[in-house]
Amino acid sequence: MLLLGVLFGLPKEPEAAPSTLRVRVLSLMSSDTATITGTSLRVKGEGEQDFSSVPEIRVRARGKELEVSSDENTRQASVVTLAVPPGSLMSVRIRETERRFGARLQVTARNGRLFFLQELPVESYVAGVLASEMPADFPFEAKKAQAVLIRSYAISHRGRHAAEGYDFCDTTHCQAYAGQSSNSEENAAESTRGRILSFRGAAIAALYHSTCGGHTSPNQKVFGGQPLPYLQGVDDQSYCSASSHYEWQSTLSREDLGLALGFPVTTLRAEERESGGRWFVLSIDGRSMKVMDFLSEVGQRSGWNRLKSNWFEVKESDASLQFTGRGLGHGVGLCQWGARGMAELGKKYPEILRHYFPKTRLERR
Ligand SMILES: [Zn+2]
Ligand SMILES: [Zn+2]
Repeated sequence: MLLLGVLFGLPKEPEAAPSTLRVRVLSLMSSDTATITGTSLRVKGEGEQDFSSVPEIRVRARGKELEVSSDENTRQASVVTLAVPPGSLMSVRIRETERRFGARLQVTARNGRLFFLQELPVESYVAGVLASEMPADFPFEAKKAQAVLIRSYAISHRGRHAAEGYDFCDTTHCQAYAGQSSNSEENAAESTRGRILSFRGAAIAALYHSTCGGHTSPNQKVFGGQPLPYLQGVDDQSYCSASSHYEWQSTLSREDLGLALGFPVTTLRAEERESGGRWFVLSIDGRSMKVMDFLSEVGQRSGWNRLKSNWFEVKESDASLQFTGRGLGHGVGLCQWGARGMAELGKKYPEILRHYFPKTRLERR
């Protein structure tokens, strides 16, 4: 949702829409065992070795090998592929958590831990990310706008993890993805099928965040890199004012702040900021720090909801710093709560996208 951790990258040259993606899933669930169930679940080992159709299997990592057990037998393999027919799902259970996936799942073992890669059609990925990145009760036109951005990102950043053998991870480093989606997400993906936002013929850097707080921000100021003409900030006309993050307050003790940063904090000043708006570089007792790095350090140590965005005022007292801020997230690109506000006013998704990404084209790939 936040995409705070997203690193900024320029879009690549235009390329044909890929038909399938390889996504690392369950990446935050380090485990050496999992149980996979599904009706019509096909299980295959490497080569022609076919473990055939079983309702349930258990996999266990042993070093670089897998032990694969069904009710009938136990076998060794270095890779296992699980597949279900279109429209059905398999369920993967790790400890108390259960996640559902369609299409194909490849399981291998790395250093005694299970490693899962899902191979799935782009549109299924779009629906799955949409379910993870936008609240389920958002209006359909907002979901369609978000679906176009998820697809644009998938096309411009495909192969982000190519060195590790896949396209995307399932965390906010790429886009959050938990596998399952519901009808409304699938409909939003289906009714925008193949559509992306482009600038000068290439899929755009499709950034988004929860709530801008009244104005979005220039990409180069927040993330560094080249200014992108379609990401220079727009007035949000209070479209996102219904968000509970529109305005926020938070108090951090100097002690907590010092622990989060690893050094004591006496004074905190803006080194570079918009007048009355977002901070880009701050100075802590003369030490310069990018605000996104500051938020990331504080978030990791003190919780992500303490300082919600890079737009704030700060008041210092003896023991603490009081922050009064606006918005949730980095403020670049689509404001999701703004998209919700526009949709509730009857705007359609192309208009929502034009508002947040001026100078871009909605096109079909
Ligand atoms: Zn990633
Ligand atoms: Zn907004």
